[in-house]
Amino acid sequence: MATTTPATTELAPRGGPFSLSCVVPVHNEQEIVAEFLRALRATAEQLTSRFEIIVVNDGSTDATGAVVRALAPELALTLIEFSRNFGKEAALTAGLDLARGDCVLLIDADFQHPLETAIEMVNAWRAGYDMVYGVRTDRAGESWLKRTGSRVFYRLMARSQSIHIPPDAGDFRVMDRRVVEALKRLPERHRFMKGLYAWVGFRSVGIPFEVRARAGGTTSFSMRRLQSLALTGITAFSNLPLRIGGVIGAVIAVFAFLWGGWIVIERIFLGQPIQGFATLAASVLFFAGIQLISIGVLGEYLGRVYDEVKARPTYLVARLDDYSPLREGETGSPLQRLTHQ
Ligand code: UDP
Ligand code: MG
Repeated sequence: MATTTPATTELAPRGGPFSLSCVVPVHNEQEIVAEFLRALRATAEQLTSRFEIIVVNDGSTDATGAVVRALAPELALTLIEFSRNFGKEAALTAGLDLARGDCVLLIDADFQHPLETAIEMVNAWRAGYDMVYGVRTDRAGESWLKRTGSRVFYRLMARSQSIHIPPDAGDFRVMDRRVVEALKRLPERHRFMKGLYAWVGFRSVGIPFEVRARAGGTTSFSMRRLQSLALTGITAFSNLPLRIGGVIGAVIAVFAFLWGGWIVIERIFLGQPIQGFATLAASVLFFAGIQLISIGVLGEYLGRVYDEVKARPTYLVARLDDYSPLREGETGSPLQRLTHQ
């Protein structure tokens, strides 16, 4: 285990009984979701007697919704069904909005996140950590492109902002209620969860785990979707790309000024004729290229600002079945808890 935040005080272990919320985002997982939820329930039972399982059906187009709905009374599930596919980040946000436990576990439905590691994570939370995240020890199962892409991404993220996003840590994690409340206060629409977890801080620890192969079905994350997520991460947590345009512009301006001066000196004092149409064409094209790139970067940020200003909800719920045992004493409809809707 490696602590990534400075330990300012002694860890205060959390003794006594506690309640646990498990949040499971699902998108087209009909083959494995039932088996997974039973396994998850068995694991949660080992940890505590007070737990709830929140399944967020993120606009599945297969039978996932029907399968979970049929299981809900028997397994005491809570099922949030989105009106369409809003993406995993939105699904996790909805699960966190509704979760009532003292600690919350986020876990994928495809058995890639080992349940034994989840037990270790909850134990680390009981030992006093506020945020316990899984760190994948090998990316061997992934394509070269995906591995290189994520390495470049984490490099970029590491140098471009004040927060530290631990590499190879994903959404598989356990969080204390305080962390969940902090995350719920963040209103942004473009939710790059890995960045938000790091932004809120708190006493964190990583637990290594080996990613398993998918138990069935296929991944929902195409290369394009990963690229778009990476772009969200960079623009949401760094203004570096905006500055790069300015810096390049300044360097070129200084260079052009000196060069222009030299041409004047050449003409007046050395008597050489002004020439070089090719140089002129090349430099004009070069500047045009840089300007367009800078405008593109600007547009990327502006588009995101536009999305935030429109303030559309992060997700829309079409249906909610709530069999959670952690509801007692709650006033009002559980829908009111879904604050990002
Ligand atoms: N998922 C989701 N919405 C999406 C895509 C994925 O809720 O739009 C869920 C999916 O059902 C799974 C988890 O997020 O439980 C991780 O997705 P996946 O296994 O496809 O991604 P990978 O593990 O390949 O990164
Ligand atoms: Mg997966």
